[in-house]
Amino acid sequence: MSGRIVDWTKGTEAIVYQTCKGCGARQYFRRSFCAACGSPDLAERRASGAGTVYATSLVCRAATPETRAHVPYNIVLVDADEGFRMMAHGDNDLAIGDKVAARFTQFAGRLVPYFAKTK
Ligand SMILES: [Zn+2]
Repeated sequence: MSGRIVDWTKGTEAIVYQTCKGCGARQYFRRSFCAACGSPDLAERRASGAGTVYATSLVCRAATPETRAHVPYNIVLVDADEGFRMMAHGDNDLAIGDKVAARFTQFAGRLVPYFAKTK
């Protein structure tokens, strides 16, 4: 696979997804093959950050000492406009079906994508 795009996991404010050159499937988590058809021929693209809330989960108990200062915080599943689904942080009042846009914030010392409602 050629030319990896740097994304937020490396501290850059970008969300990157993969698209399969074989079947056209899109996926968020970086794999060496397409989860739909098994093809290793994947391209990486930068996402716009726009999407729709698929599910939300308000976290009220900290999993680690580093996250204690942040509770309660919302973990959301977002269907990106590009056709992949990703998990990220988001505003506590987000509801299923809300249109959202991604920005980036610091969470427990790391850069993370963060979704807020678009008007
Ligand atoms: Zn495929």
